[in-house]
Amino acid sequence: MRHVAVIGSGPAGYYTAEACQKIFGDDVRVDIIDRLPVPYGLIRFGVAPDHQSIKAVAKRYETVALSGNVRFVGNVSVGRDVSIAELQSLYDAVVLATGAPNDRSLDVPGGALPGVVGSAAFVGWYNGHPDFAALNPPLHGPGAVIIGNGNVALDVTRILAKTRDEFAGSDIVGHALDALDHSGVKRITVLGRRGPHQIAMTPKELGELGHLQRATPVVEPADFPPLGDDALLEPGMRKSVTHLRDFIPMSATPKEIAVEFNFFAMPVAVEGEGRVERIIVERTRLDDQLRSIGTGERYVIPCGLVVACIGYQTPPIEGVPYEHGRGRFANTDGRILPGLYCVGWARRGPSGTIGTNRPDGYLIADHLAIDIGAGAAKQGREGLDALLTSRGVDVVNFRDWQKIEAAEVARARDGAPREKFVSLGDMMGARR
Ligand SMILES: Cc1cc2nc3c(=O)[nH]c(=O)nc-3n(C[C@H](O)[C@H](O)[C@H](O)COP(=O)(O)OP(=O)(O)OC[C@H]3O[C@@H](n4cnc5c(N)ncnc54)[C@H](O)[C@@H]3O)c2cc1C
Repeated sequence: MRHVAVIGSGPAGYYTAEACQKIFGDDVRVDIIDRLPVPYGLIRFGVAPDHQSIKAVAKRYETVALSGNVRFVGNVSVGRDVSIAELQSLYDAVVLATGAPNDRSLDVPGGALPGVVGSAAFVGWYNGHPDFAALNPPLHGPGAVIIGNGNVALDVTRILAKTRDEFAGSDIVGHALDALDHSGVKRITVLGRRGPHQIAMTPKELGELGHLQRATPVVEPADFPPLGDDALLEPGMRKSVTHLRDFIPMSATPKEIAVEFNFFAMPVAVEGEGRVERIIVERTRLDDQLRSIGTGERYVIPCGLVVACIGYQTPPIEGVPYEHGRGRFANTDGRILPGLYCVGWARRGPSGTIGTNRPDGYLIADHLAIDIGAGAAKQGREGLDALLTSRGVDVVNFRDWQKIEAAEVARARDGAPREKFVSLGDMMGARR
């Protein structure tokens, strides 16, 4: 029997378990360990609450979770409740699928002032992540600045701009819905260091901004390259840029909230008396390698909130080789050390969609077929259970999670799929 411990129950963790099932059939036991009592990682805590169809992929993971040879072992934090070395002594393979949950810091003077928040924190707040439920971001307005030109920046912008009605059918948590309902934010500025042809925004997410009840996207025509240059873009990117161009005529008919795209704009400082009051931005231009270079010309945007959507890092784990520059585990095609592997954002860094994590799982299962043979008669899950019991760890299994889920569904607002519990205590309590 092969015993595999997967640490992290996000997409990468479940795809790894699925691949192990496919390749080894009944000759494998996979334990998916997560520090939270609830599974699915960023499917629950990252993907936007108004994009429910994307979250439906969790049903596929449920099929994996309910099969006999895969277990969910929730409320167990690796590094706190059990060490990597202990897991390695119990399992033939340990696979790190811990994601990249830490925000990259905004490295400019004033970048740590109250009112500057990272996207992991802000997204975690509106999605009910227990670590960020108490964030209480300043929404007094009238200005908010979003740094970044990727889909996370678009998610944050859209959530700030929507009306209460527009959240119908979403699972945005109650505290965020109420706070956003009383928001004074009237101008959302999206900063990108480069131009419209260098965005990392997908057409669907960008298109949505053109259809909001009370917000208008505003772009500056002079920022765009000649129309003919769009033909050189790959089709998805061309579609995104077409959406941006469609915003040009909309810019002339403002609604209550303006979503202003500032391209060629690099934040250089955040200022204010004890909290964010303004951000200083330097205009940029592109060099011949399409890198942004500061021009020395600066301007000021008054704002009470800055959300930095500038990427994430995997927290290091003691004893696991780490690539500091890239903020992920040091690995070669997912192999870290003998018996130790990584997948998903912990392996590649924070990019790609949910589906991008699937081949990672299959890659590791293929490695395991070569590296661990038929298994080395390790203790596997019985050994883990004994260890966790001896330490008094209150483990949450998949049936417990289903009880938590049922309780969340039962207390949902009208028309919402669920009202998430946002504290560990409430999640644990809902098992009963
Ligand atoms: C804001 C946002 C929106 C996104 N929206 C979309 C979208 O609309 N569509 C799309 O395709 N992709 C989207 N993505 C990308 C997608 O969420 C990721 O590709 C995917 O979640 C990465 O999977 P993962 O398993 O590597 O990490 P994660 O999903 O982050 O899972 C990591 C898991 O590891 C657990 N963990 C971490 N440390 C420990 C530890 N020490 N011990 C035990 N458990 C631990 C965590 O609790 C978590 O459950 C979005 C990402 C973000 C940030």
